Amino acid sequence: MRQQRRLKSRPRSHIAAQKGALPAGCAASGDKRLTTDFSGLAAALDAADPLRHFRDDFILRDDLVYLDGNSLGALPKATPARLAETVRGEWGEGLINSWLSADWVNAPRRIGDKIAGLVGASPGEVIIADSTSVNIFKALTSAMALRPDRRVILSEAGNFPTDLYMMQGVAAFSGGRTRIVTAPGASVLDHLNDDVAALLLTQVHYKTGEIRDMAAVTRAAHDKGVLVIWDLSHSVGAIPVDLGAANADFAVGCGYKFLNGGPGAPAFIFVAQRHQHVMPALSGWFGHARPFAFEDDYAPAPGIERFLCGTPPVLGLAALEVGVDLMARADMGALRQKSLRLGDLFMACMAEYCGGFGFTLVSPADPARRGSHLSYAHPQAHAMVQALKARDVIGDFRALDIMRFGLTPLYLRYVDVVTAVTTLRDICLTGAWDRPEFHVRGAVT
Ligand SMILES: *Cc1c(COP(=O)(O)O)cnc(C)c1O
Repeated sequence: MRQQRRLKSRPRSHIAAQKGALPAGCAASGDKRLTTDFSGLAAALDAADPLRHFRDDFILRDDLVYLDGNSLGALPKATPARLAETVRGEWGEGLINSWLSADWVNAPRRIGDKIAGLVGASPGEVIIADSTSVNIFKALTSAMALRPDRRVILSEAGNFPTDLYMMQGVAAFSGGRTRIVTAPGASVLDHLNDDVAALLLTQVHYKTGEIRDMAAVTRAAHDKGVLVIWDLSHSVGAIPVDLGAANADFAVGCGYKFLNGGPGAPAFIFVAQRHQHVMPALSGWFGHARPFAFEDDYAPAPGIERFLCGTPPVLGLAALEVGVDLMARADMGALRQKSLRLGDLFMACMAEYCGGFGFTLVSPADPARRGSHLSYAHPQAHAMVQALKARDVIGDFRALDIMRFGLTPLYLRYVDVVTAVTTLRDICLTGAWDRPEFHVRGAVT
């Protein structure tokens, strides 16, 4: 484990005098002149923001800067009432009749069709089910079933852990028939060949925020007969996605991030129409062609419903639908433009306010390659994120040394960006990050 040097808080002048003795990046740059009026600029951008009224649709304290909507989206104002109605009215009064009278039974498909509209899929290509991890299992096993002569599943080293872990489980379950190959960054494409069944990639990298060119990668994979599974967890509701134009095979994604579906919201799976004949490995009764015929033998539903497994989580679906409906009302072009502007403002503020404190941008500055979060590396990233939280600026820490700031254009204001970076500057100048409690690692970061 890396040794962390502890510094006692000292007056600024003392820090400046001992600059050379401080851990990398913690030296003060208090003498730096701040020239740009970012607050004025941010206020003007907020006043002209065509999406600004969406913030009123969320429960968010005015003095809270929430930069973690890419990990757990904020609570829509309409969700508590919708959940109360689902619980008291539909469950409490309607009881089992609500499967039909409240249309619970069609919720996975109904909400799936709404998400299809957000990701460039056709109706009947997306369904809500299970978690992203479980849907990765379904997509991987489906791709392997469609490429029975191939023995390799391929991914990127440093992909989101659950993607890699699910691959490892699938490979172990195959009894040695399937092998995993991972390679860093763009070099993963060098490993495409006619022994690869499936390539599993995340479109927007969870750490760096870098966007993969979905159409180009899919084309390169298809040239070798490889099926591609896109993890859209940091894409859906964050950037324009066009699965149809990319000729994508499979995709999965989260309901609780940019879609604001609530903690542990059910996930979605996309299966291109042309692959929907595949026999699902998770052949549960809700994916059966006639679940209520109670037949002994499994017969998969004709379409996307076969990728359901067990009974749908009705309460989670109700909350998710509110978030998806809200997202569907926003114009994706406007969302993307605001997301990039928020990022540009964040980077400009960081350069001017925190330029001397040793932060390294690990996200692409190039807007064409940047998703909707920004990450900076810093040796004291963990303690600084905790210190920010203590001042109501919520970002997150991703091991080993990344501070991650989600930019959710539905409810984030430009002034929030300025508040976040000025708060970080103050924490650096005063050494306020260096308190024992900020060095304690929680079970969730
Ligand atoms: C958040 C995230 C997941 C989460 O998977 P769960 O099964 O919902 O825990 C998966 N993949 C990526 C890329 C993510 O960012």
